[in-house]
Amino acid sequence: MIKHWSVLFITAVSLSSCGLFNKDGNYGVTFDSTVSDTQKELLTGDLQLINSLSFSGVTYDDLDRIDLPELSSESLGNFLRLRVKYIVGEGFDASAQRTIISSYFNYSPSSFSAFSSPFDRVVTVMTNTGSAVYLDGKKSSILYSLNVADQKILVNTTRVGVIKIGEGLFNSSKLSSSSSDSIAKRLLRLGTLFHEARHSDGNGSNAGFPHTKCTSGDFVGYYACESNTNGPYNLEAMILKHFYRSCYNCSESELSAIQLSAADAASRLTYGAIKRDAQPEVAR
Ligand SMILES: [Zn+2]
Repeated sequence: MIKHWSVLFITAVSLSSCGLFNKDGNYGVTFDSTVSDTQKELLTGDLQLINSLSFSGVTYDDLDRIDLPELSSESLGNFLRLRVKYIVGEGFDASAQRTIISSYFNYSPSSFSAFSSPFDRVVTVMTNTGSAVYLDGKKSSILYSLNVADQKILVNTTRVGVIKIGEGLFNSSKLSSSSSDSIAKRLLRLGTLFHEARHSDGNGSNAGFPHTKCTSGDFVGYYACESNTNGPYNLEAMILKHFYRSCYNCSESELSAIQLSAADAASRLTYGAIKRDAQPEVAR
């Protein structure tokens, strides 16, 4: 059975002189109290795994999808650092945690959720809540702030970097026989994180690299497709292709799951997709 996956968004500020890890070893990601200790531990391990990855056979097309001059653990770590700043749990209620800063702020909400259909229902894997709140505000000319991890952050850019855990991130039927801390599952979650990271980019009508509605396939009617060659799904497909090669000592079923996930992500690209400017939008 082909299992469908899709993914998501993120943000973080670069302090390159500090090296890849901050003192917590998690690329500067701050976890909200709605993230359980177990989830926090797993996600921190996922992020740390990036540091041990190496890449070969990188093509121009691969780099074009992620807008990086090279693929390395350092470049990918920095990519996440700029786009994934906070991770919040399933219980995080953005509408309850947001505050209006300005009601007439001069600046089209879209779905930023990643879906997975492990069985016959679609579940959210992760969501770029930061981008979603930003675009909500932009649509109604409202400037919001968001209370995350005891901090009040101004939501004036797609790069707020607040990523929300969905029910499918840790509870997918995919690789149900593999433990949550297996390399394969870590790589799949990282694929999702990179997807969400891309939702922190883009500007104008493409702010947040929104999904487009699927017109065919298993996700017809869902905003689970994309028309950008450098968008979240196509980036995820590329990164999973490389993660597949990094899945040392992985079982056949684990390798197969990564391959299927990459193929599924690649299949979300619509006919005639084009590359778009990835510069993030900032409202001043
Ligand atoms: Zn997405």
